[in-house]
Amino acid sequence: MAERLRCPVELSDSQTLIRDNVREICAEFDDEYWRENDREGTYPSEFVELIAEHGWLGILIPEEYGGAGMGTPEALVMMEEIAASGGGFATAQAIHGGVYNSAPIVNYADESLKAELLPAVAEGETAIQAFGLTEPNAGSESTAMETSAERDGDEYVVNGQKIWTSRVDHSDYLLLMARTTPLADVEKHTRGISMFLVDLEDAMAQGALEMEQIPKSVSNAVHAFELWFDDLRVPAEHLIGEEGRGFYQVLDGLNEERLVIAGECIGLGEAALERGVDYAANREVFSRPIGKNQAIQHPLADAYMHLQAAKQLAYESAEKVEDEAGAATGTLANTSKYLAAEACYQAADAAVQTHGGFGVAREYDVERYFREARLTRLVPITQELVLNYVAENELRLPRSY
Ligand SMILES: Cc1cc2nc3c(=O)[nH]c(=O)nc-3n(C[C@H](O)[C@H](O)[C@H](O)COP(=O)(O)OP(=O)(O)OC[C@H]3O[C@@H](n4cnc5c(N)ncnc54)[C@H](O)[C@@H]3O)c2cc1C
Repeated sequence: MAERLRCPVELSDSQTLIRDNVREICAEFDDEYWRENDREGTYPSEFVELIAEHGWLGILIPEEYGGAGMGTPEALVMMEEIAASGGGFATAQAIHGGVYNSAPIVNYADESLKAELLPAVAEGETAIQAFGLTEPNAGSESTAMETSAERDGDEYVVNGQKIWTSRVDHSDYLLLMARTTPLADVEKHTRGISMFLVDLEDAMAQGALEMEQIPKSVSNAVHAFELWFDDLRVPAEHLIGEEGRGFYQVLDGLNEERLVIAGECIGLGEAALERGVDYAANREVFSRPIGKNQAIQHPLADAYMHLQAAKQLAYESAEKVEDEAGAATGTLANTSKYLAAEACYQAADAAVQTHGGFGVAREYDVERYFREARLTRLVPITQELVLNYVAENELRLPRSY
């Protein structure tokens, strides 16, 4: 297989194994596949199925439930490799939900639900691809959510609205966050929120769920939806974990997830940089390769250095994060994601500029990478919210919101 541009880091044996296997899987899908998925807005089902066949959707699921029982350092390599293959952030998004939405099930669900769901998730037979937290009236202040779930006998009744819920159209279940105690009645805004597993087929059959796709300009292969719940009845045994503790269950594991998203940003940045470097070496203007000009070389070299630094931090933090908790670990994870998103954006911008007019031609792919790189600065939380976290937790400045 041709050597790809990757910023160097030392890999463990298990990381090398995963990188090589995922790289082989990705090599079966050419650039035209990703390009067409983006152009036509088609979900990369064939790719997701192949990843599932190799067992990688269950990378984090314990072996006793049919998964690979691996951790953050391995998931980071996998997701970087997927993004770097040319699939970009969109393809990483198509896999990411399937991998990460099973984490609360592993950590908090009843034994019977784990035994029922996790082996099927690891096999790719059941998809828990969708996670509904964001709401139109709450935005980044997720604890201001208005969606409510009221206990009624052995069911909960859900009413409210979510926005930007991704992959609902390729999921069997939605992991839904809803208030079981109104904000006015809790001591802390993070309390009184619960996590539910919603069977989407059942919700549609009840006529209690309406959904509308949000037209958007980026990651077109992965759709996002606005959802409305009208007296949706969810069986009480589909409450995941403890009532009122759902927000803490989301926070648990968030650092690990942030690091893996950092890997996705780095992979996308590496893909863009590779394209920029290739074009710089081969495109001739004024009878010489444009890559002879320092104005072309320097932005690419600068982007490489930032990607390298972000990657080093993310990989080192991934080794630490599973053993340690607390604000210091949160800062490492958030910083890794922030720097990786900035470096990714810088690399994609340099790649577009290097391509001149062809930078916006679909056939050269860098315009797609650029659109996706812009998205990495907005999701899953915005860069500003990361800066808030670091200002408060590391610089000890007053909480600004
Ligand atoms: C393609 C896509 C897919 C998504 N998928 C999902 C999903 O599957 N599930 C899900 O739950 N959500 C999902 N989201 C939602 C995403 O997590 C939110 O868009 C993101 O958290 C930002 O919230 P917002 O869009 O409401 O922005 P807002 O909160 O309205 O923020 C708007 C701007 O104000 C800034 N701002 C707000 N408050 C402060 C402050 N205190 N200090 C400084 N700046 C501030 C923000 O940084 C931002 O720049 C997705 C979003 C997109 C675009």
